[in-house]
Amino acid sequence: MTHMHVAGSIHADTLTPAPKWLQVPADVNRLETKLWSSTVRRGEDGVLRVGRVAVTEIAEQVGTPAYVIDEVDFRARARAYADAFAGWDVYYAGKSFLAAGVVGWVAEEGLCLDVCSGNELIVALAGGMDPARIGLHGNNKSVAELELAVDSGVGRIIVDSLTEIDRLAEICAQRQKRAKVLVRVTAGVEAHTHEYIATAHEDQKFGLSISGGQALAALRRCAENPHLDLRGIHSHIGSQIFETAGFEVAIRRTLELHKQLAEDTSVTLPELDLGGGFGIAYTSADTPRSPEYLAGALQSLVARECRGLEIEMPHLSIEPGRAISGPPGMALYTVGTVKQVEVAPEAFRCYVSVDGGMSDNIRPALYGSEYSATVADRRSEAGPMLCRVVGKHCESGDILVRDEFLPADIAPGDLIAVPAAGAYSRSMASNYNHALRPPVVSVRDGKVRTLIRRETLADLLGLDPGVDLANLPAVERNDR
Ligand SMILES: *Cc1c(COP(=O)(O)O)cnc(C)c1O
Repeated sequence: MTHMHVAGSIHADTLTPAPKWLQVPADVNRLETKLWSSTVRRGEDGVLRVGRVAVTEIAEQVGTPAYVIDEVDFRARARAYADAFAGWDVYYAGKSFLAAGVVGWVAEEGLCLDVCSGNELIVALAGGMDPARIGLHGNNKSVAELELAVDSGVGRIIVDSLTEIDRLAEICAQRQKRAKVLVRVTAGVEAHTHEYIATAHEDQKFGLSISGGQALAALRRCAENPHLDLRGIHSHIGSQIFETAGFEVAIRRTLELHKQLAEDTSVTLPELDLGGGFGIAYTSADTPRSPEYLAGALQSLVARECRGLEIEMPHLSIEPGRAISGPPGMALYTVGTVKQVEVAPEAFRCYVSVDGGMSDNIRPALYGSEYSATVADRRSEAGPMLCRVVGKHCESGDILVRDEFLPADIAPGDLIAVPAAGAYSRSMASNYNHALRPPVVSVRDGKVRTLIRRETLADLLGLDPGVDLANLPAVERNDR
């Protein structure tokens, strides 16, 4: 974050105009291929098109901010994971973005689906997902959520604590049912990612520790219960991970645990789930691995470990979320103000304020995540200018794109597109400052389809019994 310095307290030569990873573009109109979904083009008129629909048309139809998902690209990424990981089960992590309309894409491309709450489960079922192909996560599932999972025949329940194991066993006993479970463990891996999205180190809320012995105790407790069908171990080491070193450690420790259980109890676990977290390109500095590379690397790591431990290969699964839903999505905003802020003597930063912000993409504020942006409704002949794209919320940390070169003639009314915004944007959106959460549309072959409509003022204010809905002032669709 930029602090206002007293004049003279910072020297111009100590200011870095742009971070090292960000190249000055030769042409501000050029789209960097790896950041955009496969059908995105800039037309002769300068307007971005996705799925053969002009983004100006989408903005006209549904207003801004809005999220646009390229269906062809989403399906292609899902299919690429299913193909590369043939013989595995690939669970799409629905928490990254879930709507009933995408559940069919996931199922049709051959994937399973994992959900993190009863309400996500309801959407998965409403979208037509075969319950046997759904996994339910969560470190504090309620009795009602567990009952819904058991009653609807969810294929895997990933248990996260001893309390939950007993709770689930009791629910199954009442119903004379048997639930298929995986035990979520922490493998003690330090994933090289932000603390809040690293999930395999010891001091956090998820899972049961291998090194502390709780994981083995949980496996034994499940194995001994007639109402639980213990299928295997689950490990998810974190998110936005590019290297396989963390998976290597997790694979070794989970398979050692698998072997120890077999030796102690003669229970051989048939499955191992390695979780998700495969990184994507949010900026030009990110270099994601292909599904083929990941499949080859993970498969050979598991095979090597199994040979070393002299155990049979379990059936494997993974849970990519952002790698499927992130790159197909872009966020569209309209520029409201452009302001040059003097951050040091003779040094300015250009703040471009748009009509959304941390309520529709919390990731920069929450994790310091970087994004990219381009002007989407025209071509510009102006040179590149380093900008910071910020929202309209009452926080200085309300940043959407910390550093990006936009054309120097950027002006109010311009449409801005942020690529790789399909994951963890709408799904983490809030009503901060009474913002109305934006719609999500999908595009394909020139057609626009609503996946989630824009929240209305009546949706939001209907929650407040002190507001008279009959007497709302006329509020423009775009005005929040
Ligand atoms: C969040 C999560 C995922 C997906 O993470 P991505 O970074 O979106 O791939 C997979 N499994 C579990 C258990 C998760 O919590």
